[in-house]
Amino acid sequence: MVVYLKSKPHANGTSSSPKIDVPSIVQGVINDIRTKGDSAVRSYSEKFDRWSPSSFKLSFQEIENIISKVPKQTIEDIKTVQHNVRTFALAQRESLKDFELEIRPGVHLGQKNIPISAVGAYIPGGRYPLLASAHMTIVTAKAAGVRRVVACTPPINGEIPSSTIAAMHLAGADEIYILGGVQAVAAMAIGTETMDKVDFIAGPGNPFVAEAKRQLFGEIGIDLPAGPTEVLIVADHKADPTTVAVDLLSQAEHGPDTPAVLITTSREVGEKSIKEVDRLLKILPTAALAGVSWDTFGEVIVVDSLNEAYELADKYASEHVQILTEHPREALEKMSNYGALFLGEKTCVSYGDKVIGTNHVLPTKKAARFTGGLWVGKYLKTVTYQEVTSAQESGELGVLCGRAARAENFEGHARSGDIRANTYLGESFGW
Ligand code: NAD
Repeated sequence: MVVYLKSKPHANGTSSSPKIDVPSIVQGVINDIRTKGDSAVRSYSEKFDRWSPSSFKLSFQEIENIISKVPKQTIEDIKTVQHNVRTFALAQRESLKDFELEIRPGVHLGQKNIPISAVGAYIPGGRYPLLASAHMTIVTAKAAGVRRVVACTPPINGEIPSSTIAAMHLAGADEIYILGGVQAVAAMAIGTETMDKVDFIAGPGNPFVAEAKRQLFGEIGIDLPAGPTEVLIVADHKADPTTVAVDLLSQAEHGPDTPAVLITTSREVGEKSIKEVDRLLKILPTAALAGVSWDTFGEVIVVDSLNEAYELADKYASEHVQILTEHPREALEKMSNYGALFLGEKTCVSYGDKVIGTNHVLPTKKAARFTGGLWVGKYLKTVTYQEVTSAQESGELGVLCGRAARAENFEGHARSGDIRANTYLGESFGW
């Protein structure tokens, strides 16, 4: 049986938040940048971010000056985290082997992983300086072997986010722009008088950024739909309600649109966690955002068994799934829809977000049904090649190809087979 101790108010028809037409706003910005280039980029940066410097791109000298003012401890911490992210990303690269198979004598089929040439990394920054997104997007691209990484981040309240710039630079960005939102994504994808376009864009962002990537997909590649963050916790009767509440709010503070869901087998844990969230919201400095998320999208659900909890959690296909149970590793076997799993009380989503080394750019809005998060493989094109070195095999393939293509009425294809069957086996053909 499924019992909702707390459900989303709009599920009961009480939501009254005004609807913003994000797709048409985004389409308007993209169209203008396509036709007017830099001047449109500048006017939207002025409009949305009140930001219009002489150049959006930072020079090497400016980068050095900015970084010199970042506290030494912050620089050390950036290096430590980037080491973790790089180590894991390089292990992922190592796991992707090129290979060649001789499927028949003299018939060689191969597969190679080729890095994308130019990548745009979007580092969000509307509300918080998300320097961790620089580690996740740029370090991973460089581990994959991407030659040119263009990185964009918005100003925060009219200021350059210096720690984010340090993270972007130390991660290996080749070009750094202080530019945010749709104007940054569109400039990177389409190219302008002052920015060469890229082939692929990665990175998380708010609904405007996520929609811009979605609309530009096809013209460029994108990593995945990584919009407003989500957390889901599966807890049993042993879970500590204060830990549950702290971890739910740790994600809810991202913005006003973060689903934070608890599925538990214990009514007591569920009720106590709700009380703890209410208590903590009175003292959390970011409660203004976290509280709106919790009131609008927070859910606490009691189920009869852990199997039921995993099944329901799979339906949510949440970006982050934290397992606070006696045997957390069983979720590895029981669950299949999540961006990243956090097993047991000794780790948490914040570790994944900020320090531990797995990537924090993860699928949202149920995209975990069909994709994992950002990883080295997203920056590589897995391509194939073939070579036939045996005349006999080429001729036999030619005979087979002739029949197979004619079964589909492809006479042109068939003749490519016929000519080889003739050259290598002496087969005659009637054209
Ligand atoms: P952001 O950089 O994504 O967006 C800021 C930009 O939005 C601004 O530069 C501005 O140009 C644009 N903008 C703001 N209001 C606009 C409007 N009305 N019309 C057009 N453009 C507008 O930063 P943010 O807003 O702080 O959002 C960051 C998001 O990233 C959060 O939602 C967070 O949850 C998400 N995130 C997701 C993941 C993931 O992997 N899924 C990871 C980290 C962060």
